[in-house]
Amino acid sequence: MSIDHYAFASDNTSGICPEAWATIEEANTAGVGSYGADPYTEEACQLLCTLFEREVDVYFVFNGTAANSLSLSALYKSYHAIIAHEKSHIHTDECGGPEHFTGGSKILPCSGKHAKLTTAEIDRVVTNRRDLHFPKPKAISITQCTEFGTTYSVDELRTLTECARSHRLHVHLDGARFSNAVASLGVSPAETTWKAGVDVMSFGLTKLGVGVGEAVVFFDRDLAEEFDYRCKQAGQLASKMRFLTAGWCGLLRNDAWIEIARRANAHAQILREQLSDVPGVDLLFPTQANAVFARFPQQVNAAMASKGWHYYELAGIGDSRLMCSWATRKEDIFAFVNDLRQC
Ligand SMILES: *Cc1c(COP(=O)(O)O)cnc(C)c1O
Repeated sequence: MSIDHYAFASDNTSGICPEAWATIEEANTAGVGSYGADPYTEEACQLLCTLFEREVDVYFVFNGTAANSLSLSALYKSYHAIIAHEKSHIHTDECGGPEHFTGGSKILPCSGKHAKLTTAEIDRVVTNRRDLHFPKPKAISITQCTEFGTTYSVDELRTLTECARSHRLHVHLDGARFSNAVASLGVSPAETTWKAGVDVMSFGLTKLGVGVGEAVVFFDRDLAEEFDYRCKQAGQLASKMRFLTAGWCGLLRNDAWIEIARRANAHAQILREQLSDVPGVDLLFPTQANAVFARFPQQVNAAMASKGWHYYELAGIGDSRLMCSWATRKEDIFAFVNDLRQC
């Protein structure tokens, strides 16, 4: 069996998982409506209402940057600011998308261990300046699970959202890897979102197993007013929408989404265990989802690259990020760790 040298580079290097592929194939017919007026999109919206145990307003867009930028733009005006962790995707990896789509609002970055926001930092940023000359904080954005593969417990989330409410801030959740967080926490999707005070979320299944298409889910449905116009204007209304939403049906019709997330998380645990036995390897953060972060001795990254392995080194730090996905196999883990020992 050939080894997948991209196995740990990103959960995006995996293909479309079989459960999503089957429904995309099923959707590949004529005789359905366009621009979301099709049975798959309707079913995907229904499945999300069921998943979250309430009525929600759902909009499907092409990717996570669009989901974050547009959902955030629904929360504030150009002179507002959003509080987020300094490692957050919206701050470091979206090319100013959230700022662009609000016409100039600012992200106020906070520090915090393991890429997690803290109430102390929210308090600090909100009270630091309250005058007319500084943008007015209007929302916080929480990533679940975080960019460092850690999770917020439901209690931690509640504490953050209560702090946000006390400052009259909306709560946005970046859930690009939400399924992995839910699988890891062992709580219901409702408990870790609206029941914990989240107003709107970007829900991603691309990294979990669909090919393209992320959902903006509004729990505070007043915030969704005219959101369809925002999507269309931003070029995010898919004409053949069913090909974005059929995969969601495949993953949400049964428990496929959570089983896949559990499996990816379990593989990350195996990878972590295997790495912990390799001399010279330091493991960096708790592995609470499908990511393992490690520091390898100098020269190792180059030696692994020459053996054909691809994975991310964190900008400027030299630490390595290893992701597991639905497609990760034990053979890939053992081959990787074996090569690492040799390096
Ligand atoms: C991958 C990811 C996104 C979405 O990125 P796109 O490349 O725009 O789809 C958003 N937030 C986080 C935390 C991510 O890891």
